[in-house]
Amino acid sequence: MALAVRTPRFQPLPASISATSTTASVAVANARPCAGAVRASSAASPFTEATSSSRYRRDAWSYAADGSSSPSSCDAAAAAAASGRRDDEIALQLPELRRLLDALRASRRNGAEGEGGGGGPGRVALVGTGPGDPELLTLKAVRAIQSADLVLYDRLVSNDVMDLVGEDARLLYVGKTAGYHSRTQEEIHELLLSFAEAGANVVRLKGGDPLVFGRGGEEMDFLQQQGIRVEVIPGITSASGIAAELGIPLTHRGVATSVRFLTGHSRNGGTDPLYVAGNAADPDTTLVVYMGLSTLPSLAPKLMKHGLPPDTPAVAVERGTTPQQRTVFSTLKDLVDEVKLADLVSPTLIIIGKVVALSPFWAEPSDQEVLIENSFASDTR
Ligand code: SAH
Repeated sequence: MALAVRTPRFQPLPASISATSTTASVAVANARPCAGAVRASSAASPFTEATSSSRYRRDAWSYAADGSSSPSSCDAAAAAAASGRRDDEIALQLPELRRLLDALRASRRNGAEGEGGGGGPGRVALVGTGPGDPELLTLKAVRAIQSADLVLYDRLVSNDVMDLVGEDARLLYVGKTAGYHSRTQEEIHELLLSFAEAGANVVRLKGGDPLVFGRGGEEMDFLQQQGIRVEVIPGITSASGIAAELGIPLTHRGVATSVRFLTGHSRNGGTDPLYVAGNAADPDTTLVVYMGLSTLPSLAPKLMKHGLPPDTPAVAVERGTTPQQRTVFSTLKDLVDEVKLADLVSPTLIIIGKVVALSPFWAEPSDQEVLIENSFASDTR
């Protein structure tokens, strides 16, 4: 039983989306900070999730109502946050989205009349932003982020990544959180299509890699069928980013001959996601479980029942590669209890397999009662 809750080895980057910041990547005058729009308890999240303190500042423009008689964008955003109702939120945003679309269409028409060209439909880039640390972005991703007209972003895009969005870009949050859906996947498809058709250079930001449990394939499919040019810019998936951060080789000669990415969730009404436990329980395969926090209590015993030794090393990592990273190392048999004890929250990634013991953070069995805190603050790799 090894519980290692540590602070990150890197210093938090200067966050320009701090509580006092008035940095506006949103090109509207009223994109001022909205005090009190969200609960303070989750203000520490490094991500742009619905309850993050940054959210209603960054897409305040889309709530901007007409003139002085209407509520301010922040009030409207706060009301939407308070009610937590998707309908409210979309209704509030629609007029401003329509205005933006009209403006884009008009400028495209003017371009067409003026220079005999005017440009066809815009394009959509599906951009992976990695697990959180902005230094894990690719150069391609940074270029796309800096040249976007419109950025649609998910909750697992970190605030530090959002800081890189160009000054003139419009930002629109389309993320989902458990129990709080701001937009359906179909609505996201329609938004991407409308803006691309209007000639905008649209960037769709997704945490990690867009094609690993990111629904990027569906968006790509939909847009291509509508004749829109789609570019996919890969990101470092959380498995790779977090494994590197912890010094865990996902495969290792003589230890793990393969690695398998699993989801702890299934589509509504789909097959039990845990049916895979049977053939996933291979001691020579590293298992990486995405979205597995809530189903871990049934997955862990199933893996053991299907032959994975109870003392298989494992780690659960919350908010990996961000300044708020927390890790829980344990054997498979104790993992559920240890994760519960540490009260880990989403996003958490779980890595199970012998390779976990190769991490410099892994404590030997004799030391496993010891709580290790910040023991690798300096570079060990
Ligand atoms: N496309 C993403 C995965 C999206 S699914 C990728 O390639 O990484 C969302 C799940 O990814 C989360 O529930 C969590 O299991 C994992 N995840 C993503 N970012 C993470 C992070 N910074 N720390 C821990 N887990 C993360």
